[in-house]
Amino acid sequence: MAGMITDFMIPVDFGLSEERKMMLDMLKKFKEKETPKEKIAEWDEANHFPVDVWKKLGQEGILGACFPEQYGGTGGNIIDETLITEEISNGFSAMGLAYLTGVCFGGMSILHYGTDKQKEYYLPKLIAGDWNFALSLTEPGGGTDILGALKSRAVEQPDGTFIANGSKIFTTGLHVANTDVFIARTDDVPGKPAQGLTIFLIDRDNIGQQEIDGDLLNQRFCQGITYHKIKKLGSHILASFEVSFEDVKLTKEQILGERGRGWYNLLATLNNERIVCSAICLGLAQGCLEEANQYAKEREAFGKPIGQFQAIQHQLADMATEIELSRLITYKAAWMQANNPKDPSVGVIASMAKMYTSDAAFRCTDRAMRILAGYGFTMEYHIQRYYRDIRQLVFAPITNEMCRNYIGQVMLGQNKSY
Ligand SMILES: Cc1cc2nc3c(=O)[nH]c(=O)nc-3n(C[C@H](O)[C@H](O)[C@H](O)COP(=O)(O)OP(=O)(O)OC[C@H]3O[C@@H](n4cnc5c(N)ncnc54)[C@H](O)[C@@H]3O)c2cc1C
Repeated sequence: MAGMITDFMIPVDFGLSEERKMMLDMLKKFKEKETPKEKIAEWDEANHFPVDVWKKLGQEGILGACFPEQYGGTGGNIIDETLITEEISNGFSAMGLAYLTGVCFGGMSILHYGTDKQKEYYLPKLIAGDWNFALSLTEPGGGTDILGALKSRAVEQPDGTFIANGSKIFTTGLHVANTDVFIARTDDVPGKPAQGLTIFLIDRDNIGQQEIDGDLLNQRFCQGITYHKIKKLGSHILASFEVSFEDVKLTKEQILGERGRGWYNLLATLNNERIVCSAICLGLAQGCLEEANQYAKEREAFGKPIGQFQAIQHQLADMATEIELSRLITYKAAWMQANNPKDPSVGVIASMAKMYTSDAAFRCTDRAMRILAGYGFTMEYHIQRYYRDIRQLVFAPITNEMCRNYIGQVMLGQNKSY
């Protein structure tokens, strides 16, 4: 692995194809019409996820951009996913998160290791905007040491079905999801915790999608599954839940991937997840810069716009520079994943991208708050939302400390530190 980065061929053409430019133009117009900032602020205040916007994203072909045509997609790849996520997340990172859970955790997992039947059943619905997914992996005992913390079990019965019990935490978007991607232990392999895990696809029963407003408790997803909303600092538009599984009946047909190989199945979509997460941070930071820059042109002090003070201009220049670097590493990771997904160095670059973009976006929101000062602290402006929403992305879906551990171990050849 040593020398990996210099060994790698660096693409020198930074241009976008005409198709991709058109797709982004269309998405920008879509956002102006369907998701103006005032609406996003209202949804944030009301803890409301706009299911109709998700549906329209499907109708515009945005949700199918990275899926094969046979399922209704347009045959693109992770580069399209990255560009779309970046644009959606500019001003609206909660929709970027929905894209992460729906397209990445749900759709991409099914595309990579689902059966033909599962692909034919789920992918066209997702692509059309009629379906969404949530991921129930993390447990109350901890997300970083997930293999140590995971206690959920699905026990095989004499008739070949399974009965699942357990507790999950932070399952995001479950209230507007049609399918929960649930990970449980089905088999014990002594001394090898990564083995014996299985992924199940659990569909909501036909009681329909539910809006969670206020503090409604113990919503029902299907027989045996109830969920309870977590009050959190940011991303109010896409709520997160504690989920309880009590004697949930599952069948073999609901297994996604291979029984007992769930952990390895999850690893297959990990790079994709990190790159899409980087794109959310990138879009969030870009939106933050645009608003802070505009404010600095309009707000006056000592008879001139505050942007004319070097102290303010430098903050904006630092934001712009870090965003450009974020864009470079995110696009590079996407390009590597699209062109050579089996190359082990993709995981390193994708981890660097996730870590760098989230830290950079975190700093951008802080700088923007300083530039807007008092008004930035009010709910009237959008910067406070970006400031709250970025907090989770430095530790979810993977903490930046674990990204650093991975880079140290895999790229630099240091001993595993945990
Ligand atoms: C808003 C939100 C949405 C989420 N959505 C989902 C979802 O949809 N589905 C899902 O399954 N999960 C979800 N998560 C869970 C998320 O993936 C976890 O929060 C994340 O993995 C971190 O786990 P933890 O919070 O338990 O922190 P912990 O694992 O308890 O870690 C605490 C601290 O210790 C550090 N640490 C631990 N071990 C090491 C080590 N070896 N080296 C260095 N530092 C270490 C961590 O980096 C962190 O700083 C979400 C979380 C949040 C907050």
